[in-house]
Amino acid sequence: MADAADAAEAPPSKRQRLEAAFEAQGEEGRRKRQHLCCSMCLGPFDEPVFVKPLGNTYCKGCITAWLSENRTDPLTGTRLTVREGNIAAVLVPNIAVQQIIDAQSVPCRYAARGCEAWSALGDLEAHEANCPCKPSKCARCAFVGSRLEVAAHEQACPFVVLGPVLDAQNARIRNLEGEVRDAKRRLTAEHEATQRLKARLEALEAQRPGDLAVVSPPAARRTRATRAGPAETDPTPVFQYPPGVAASDSIVVTRGDLRRLEPGGYLNEKLVDFYLKVIVADARRSPLAEDPDFGNMASAVHAFPSDFFTMLSAGNERVERWTRGVDVFAKKFLLVPVVEDLHWSLAIVCHPGELAKRAIAGHIYPTVDSADHEDGPARPCVIHMDSRGSSLHSARKIEKWLRCFLEMEWRKRHAGEEPFTLWAGPRAGSAIMNPADLLLARPKVPQQMNSADSGLYALRYAQEFLTRAVCRGAPLAVNGRDVSLDFRDHDFEAWFTGRDIAEMRRDIKKLAADLELEKIRAAYRREQAEDAAARPPRRPRQ
Ligand SMILES: [Zn+2]
Ligand SMILES: [Zn+2]
Ligand SMILES: [Zn+2]
Repeated sequence: MADAADAAEAPPSKRQRLEAAFEAQGEEGRRKRQHLCCSMCLGPFDEPVFVKPLGNTYCKGCITAWLSENRTDPLTGTRLTVREGNIAAVLVPNIAVQQIIDAQSVPCRYAARGCEAWSALGDLEAHEANCPCKPSKCARCAFVGSRLEVAAHEQACPFVVLGPVLDAQNARIRNLEGEVRDAKRRLTAEHEATQRLKARLEALEAQRPGDLAVVSPPAARRTRATRAGPAETDPTPVFQYPPGVAASDSIVVTRGDLRRLEPGGYLNEKLVDFYLKVIVADARRSPLAEDPDFGNMASAVHAFPSDFFTMLSAGNERVERWTRGVDVFAKKFLLVPVVEDLHWSLAIVCHPGELAKRAIAGHIYPTVDSADHEDGPARPCVIHMDSRGSSLHSARKIEKWLRCFLEMEWRKRHAGEEPFTLWAGPRAGSAIMNPADLLLARPKVPQQMNSADSGLYALRYAQEFLTRAVCRGAPLAVNGRDVSLDFRDHDFEAWFTGRDIAEMRRDIKKLAADLELEKIRAAYRREQAEDAAARPPRRPRQ
């Protein structure tokens, strides 16, 4: 139930109520009215006051208006003194008359609607607030009547009976409207994102397999290898490798990294680490990787990231985090990229497991001369390949650090046994065998022509080495043969030329473009799938 609009209108004034009461009381009412009548306005008193010092009573409003113009009593004409124009000071409320007025019995304002109650003027408002005849309105429909009528109506009003159901429906409709608004907004945003991806996809498709230089404008080309320009620090991620694994387990290649693939660009750690992973993955995918003579390529090779050697040579023993879960002695080849003085070289540890086996057996390995036969065990060695000879990186130093690393790994697993670096055979002091029984080999490999290509050469050495190592019948086949023993006959310099290195920059760029394209395609497919899932399912036809 709610108050109807006309109940909210201003209630009648006291004077109107008194006039109505006197009118209804006939002769008696007229007599009462005469006693309570102001001689100025001739109506019932409104705020009756005396005028000092005479004692005649008037409405406060009537006498105040009079005294602002005159200084006499209106009834008797007697002169009055009003000090400093302060009229209120000569007026005193006539409490006795006010009490008589408040005690007058008057009818309820809803008499016309059937209320028969009369009440003292002072108490009337309390009655009217709860008067059963007060007009009221149904809480849920347009029905208007007295409070009693509305109470009766609401017992049967369908809107009131169904109220809770209607409320729930309304709330649901409001929720659905909100959801529709949100979904529309989301669809618009997704549509825009899809359009952007489509445009990017088309742009990339258009530039394949043509000029990849569009990706890296000629202005970004660097001729100085040692300084990275602003373009080479562009941190926008382009793709991650390998794709589809956690970001922490993958290499995120940026737009700036890729700029370094332009001719004359110096490959940074991220590019070398990325492409070395690709080379190892390619070797593992090779059909020859399952060659029974060689064994499983996947478990035979481990490539370290480039900061492995950097930290190792800084004396940081925490390098063990690179071998967590990897038994280096179970590997045939460990690929170790070395970066120092803005120059790259590659070290390969071959057959570290043989070193360990001999440490356990205390086995004295036959001399190099007598080991040159088909069925001899593989010879542990470090092969260092450097595109600038020995002018920048010290192969001896690299071999020393790698030996320390193997020693640490060995002690981690065999704490109680004798360290194998201390093993001293009969010819330990000779030029042929160093104390670790790790032969250091420095084959004559292709040499770089400029100052910027060392990273590519190091990568190419790894690629050529793995390709030949897994290739049956090739000079470096390791079917029980000692890799190092073939060095004398093998022509490493014929592996590749400077032109192949320039080609390699283009190959890596193309692979990067493919990986970026694949990433965009995957994102596009994901958007499409989400788009399809967001659309409401179609109702089957009845
Ligand atoms: Zn008056
Ligand atoms: Zn009433
Ligand atoms: Zn109703």
